[in-house]
Amino acid sequence: MTGVERLSPTFVRVEFGSPALADLGVDGPLFDQRIKLIFPNRAGRLPSMEGADESWFESWMQVPEEERGAMRTYTVRALRGSGADTRLVVDFVVHGDGDSSGPGGDFGAHAAVGRRVITMAPRRGVPFGGIEFDPGTAKRLLLAGDETAVPAVSAILECLPPTARGAVFLEVPVSGDVLPLRGPTGVEVHWLPRDGAPRAEALHAAVLEHLGEEPVVPVVDEVDPDLWETPTYSSSGEDVDVAVRVVGHEFDDLYAWIAGESSLVTGLRRALVQDLGIDRHQVAFMGYWREGVAMRS
Ligand SMILES: Cc1cc2nc3c(=O)[nH]c(=O)nc-3n(C[C@H](O)[C@H](O)[C@H](O)COP(=O)(O)OP(=O)(O)OC[C@H]3O[C@@H](n4cnc5c(N)ncnc54)[C@H](O)[C@@H]3O)c2cc1C
Repeated sequence: MTGVERLSPTFVRVEFGSPALADLGVDGPLFDQRIKLIFPNRAGRLPSMEGADESWFESWMQVPEEERGAMRTYTVRALRGSGADTRLVVDFVVHGDGDSSGPGGDFGAHAAVGRRVITMAPRRGVPFGGIEFDPGTAKRLLLAGDETAVPAVSAILECLPPTARGAVFLEVPVSGDVLPLRGPTGVEVHWLPRDGAPRAEALHAAVLEHLGEEPVVPVVDEVDPDLWETPTYSSSGEDVDVAVRVVGHEFDDLYAWIAGESSLVTGLRRALVQDLGIDRHQVAFMGYWREGVAMRS
């Protein structure tokens, strides 16, 4: 770790540097590029990745749990510098303590120059995947998420062409978490601090209101903790290619990108796809984390 900046009560910006990052990057815009980070184990040690190849994940999983450290998913907030001086910037959400925190949140909370992680990240010129934002020919964008989606939405906004149009809704824990964002003037940004209100209420209502609907509070009973539905993939196993295409709909020109806590995303999925009939090929719904559940990797 080469730098730490406390951005707000919830966000800690961490910069990682290493000559091993020289080729880090993608050939186009980063958008919501995700990466994996492995945090040190309880003894503060990282597992060895010596000789790692395509089967690194299986090999890593065979290392006893208390030794292998913990892997979590994060977003490339930015890349700085070039060549051997390339630095990777990640914005960490600091959340709770004890059981309501985890290795990722703890790492952000106690970030200090010199601390180390292992990253699985894209190299320029090598296919990697991990970018979901794909609006195709949509003329208006709807980006919505909670604090864990703020780094991705911030990065997406910086990659958009100046002519882009749309709206962004970001729910964050407190008013002090409202961050300056750079993006096209045609994309309005709405921050929704909870300031003690229940999670997802304000975001759900604001998105529905934006789409011209009654801002009803969602009732979400069944939640898929691994909810991940994009125009080309469904965690439910649904065959996306044969899913019915909706045509002649008032939201035909919309592309929606929605990420955050799984029940929040489930509630918006129901509202947009089931209730409003928006074509699921025009929406990406991504459960970034699940209340009360530690992510496995
Ligand atoms: C594609 C993708 C990109 C992501 N990008 C980022 C990013 O850039 N920055 C970022 O901070 N997160 C990001 N996340 C979310 C992050 O991976 C999860 O929040 C993860 O659970 C954090 O791991 P942890 O070790 O802190 O907590 P875990 O060990 O997974 O969970 C421990 C406890 O903490 C709770 N918890 C986890 N996250 C939160 C939270 N945010 N708020 C409140 N409670 C929580 C869990 O419900 C559980 O009870 C991303 C996730 C995905 C899938």
